[in-house]
Amino acid sequence: MTDKKVICPACGSDKLIYQEVIKTIGLALQNDAELDLRFKEKYYTCTLCTESMDIFRETDINLSKAVSDAINELNKIFAREGFAKLEEKSI
Ligand SMILES: [Zn+2]
Repeated sequence: MTDKKVICPACGSDKLIYQEVIKTIGLALQNDAELDLRFKEKYYTCTLCTESMDIFRETDINLSKAVSDAINELNKIFAREGFAKLEEKSI
C-alpha cells in the first residue's frame, strides 16, 4: 500500500504523514459476555492543511476482517461448547 502515490484530496499536497493506531472495540454480547474487536486504524495526515483521512479505506477493510474473525471465533466456541452456557443463564 505504501508504494501508491498519496495526494491529499483536500489540497493536493503530497506531504502526508502515514499513521497507524491499534483500536479495540468491546462488543457486548448476551449474558454479560464480551468480545473485543481489535483492528489497525490507518490514516494519512496532511502537513499542509492538517486534514486526516483514510485514503485507501484500509481501516474499513481491517475492521471488516476483525468482524469476520470474531464471528469465526464465536462459531468455533459454539461448535466446541454448544449453546449450553447461554442456555443455563437464560430463563
Ligand atoms: Zn492537504
